[in-house]
Amino acid sequence: MRSASPTRYHIVPIDARQHLFEVRCEVDDPDPSGQRFHLPVWIPGSYLVREFARHVVEITARCGERAISIDKQSKSSWRAAPCTGPLAVTATIYAYDLSVRGAYLDETRAYFNGAAVFVCPEGRERSPCEVDIVRPSEGSHWRVATTLEQVDAPRFGFGRYRADDYDALIDHPVEMASFSHVAFDAGGVPHDVTVTGRHDADLERLARDLERICQWQADLFGGTPSSRAPFARYLFQVTAVGEGYGGLEHRSSTSLLCSRNDLPSRDMPAMADDYRTLLALASHEYFHSWHIKRIKPAAFVPYDLAREAYTRQLWAFEGFTSYYDDLALVRSGVLDVAGYLELAGRTITSVLRTPGRHRQSLAQSSFDAWIKFYRPDENTPNAVVSYYAKGAVVALALDLTLRLRGSSLDALMRLLWERYGRTGIGVPEDAIPKLANECAQRDLSSFFARYVEGTDDPPLAELLREAGVVMSLRPAEGTRDRGGRAGQAPADRPSPASLAIKLATGEAKILHTFRDGAAARAGLAAGDVIVAVDGLRATPDAVERTIARRRAGERVTVHAFRRDELVAFDVTLDAAPSDTCFLTLDANAPTAAIELRRSWLGSA
Ligand code: ZN
Repeated sequence: MRSASPTRYHIVPIDARQHLFEVRCEVDDPDPSGQRFHLPVWIPGSYLVREFARHVVEITARCGERAISIDKQSKSSWRAAPCTGPLAVTATIYAYDLSVRGAYLDETRAYFNGAAVFVCPEGRERSPCEVDIVRPSEGSHWRVATTLEQVDAPRFGFGRYRADDYDALIDHPVEMASFSHVAFDAGGVPHDVTVTGRHDADLERLARDLERICQWQADLFGGTPSSRAPFARYLFQVTAVGEGYGGLEHRSSTSLLCSRNDLPSRDMPAMADDYRTLLALASHEYFHSWHIKRIKPAAFVPYDLAREAYTRQLWAFEGFTSYYDDLALVRSGVLDVAGYLELAGRTITSVLRTPGRHRQSLAQSSFDAWIKFYRPDENTPNAVVSYYAKGAVVALALDLTLRLRGSSLDALMRLLWERYGRTGIGVPEDAIPKLANECAQRDLSSFFARYVEGTDDPPLAELLREAGVVMSLRPAEGTRDRGGRAGQAPADRPSPASLAIKLATGEAKILHTFRDGAAARAGLAAGDVIVAVDGLRATPDAVERTIARRRAGERVTVHAFRRDELVAFDVTLDAAPSDTCFLTLDANAPTAAIELRRSWLGSA
């Protein structure tokens, strides 16, 4: 059933101190037998059933002037008593989720994703929507940042907005606060950056760098320099806090959560590590404007927000995006080649430190994201591989494989855009290997069978050598060593010993024991608190230092509390694995490799 009249919404941050929004949904011509309403159970871009309905504190209905009943039909749906209209349903929604995936309200800001606050009247999913965003009493200085279409609201102002349908309504999150703002043009369209939260950032620097990254991405998909982006405007909605990290993509905006120290300072050197992380996050979410918001797995066309939407392709959507988020920094000239190689070395390191990559394939990790990757526990490193990190590594291997055959992942992305992005046709589950074959002009099915459907590591060292880059491995030097750089220890030093565990910070509590490793073989388990090694008191640092002085094959006695019981473990130490990767330019690379490297990284 399609209805000409819009679904009208009205949202007020009604109680900032108690984190409550009041949201009204009005339907002029409800289903006379009893209009049903539902809330999504998940939000596109984050593959976990979040049950937004659990934050609905109260819900009431009126038919004209008369109060009528509204009853729960399932965990996320309601049905109002029969009414010929107009029908208004009002919900009070608790909003204190600082992440980019829900809704948040306190005296400093109000933020929401539509999926967390707007009930959808059943049968009106395709109807246009209007939203009145009402200024709260606390927010006399607040402005509004959203890419919802303005109907009767000034730029950055409170008032009436609209969306073509419910799917669009929930894909333009709304920020209300006293935010800072900077603007630039890229891809022929205006871009805004708003930053909420206390900060002292050099926003002009941020805008300059984002402009280059955005233009490079528009050119990648457009195929020509100064290509046009596929949206009328774009918004980076940034929230700066003490500690935080996260991003969620939308069709013409992204919500980013970062540490205020990630923002560029006015006297910053050429490129600080934290700022590089923020640029990569912004680059990642922006890339999604093409790759997952417009080029979508067939399983997401349309989104079924009532239940899990299964696809074995998240590795290609999140993995390619994770590959390009860093690559866009070097290709756009924002980051130098050494900086890029450091980031790539870290990504490879994170995959090599995951024993689960030999248990779960990328395709399986994609399919089971809902119950595994998004629900990490103590056994996750042993059983799960990240479709982000290994997906990025396989994207790198695929890019180099295609480049060695005269094509590239860039060419594959443009084919995806032409066939699926521009047309709105969902990407079938078997499409990407076929496109790769088409680009390479040969059968690459064994590549996908081994590295995507299977659990093999791609032959990165060989591929990188063909691109004039040397891949080296060494043992980790401490728990903060994320790889990407050559270590301090001489290369000929014998490998230190290892317990094959990951400890918490603060107390020596085991977060993970790695499968078949020294601690796991001796019976130590996640949750155990190590109190002594060979009779000496344990702190996380002391454990690390003590074990690093030993050699593989030596035995130590570990005392640990399991719950409140003290247990002694006899542990035979392993050699620390060479799972820390760093990449360097090959000074002796032949001309063909140097040419391939130039086409891949731009300069160098
Ligand atoms: Zn992503």
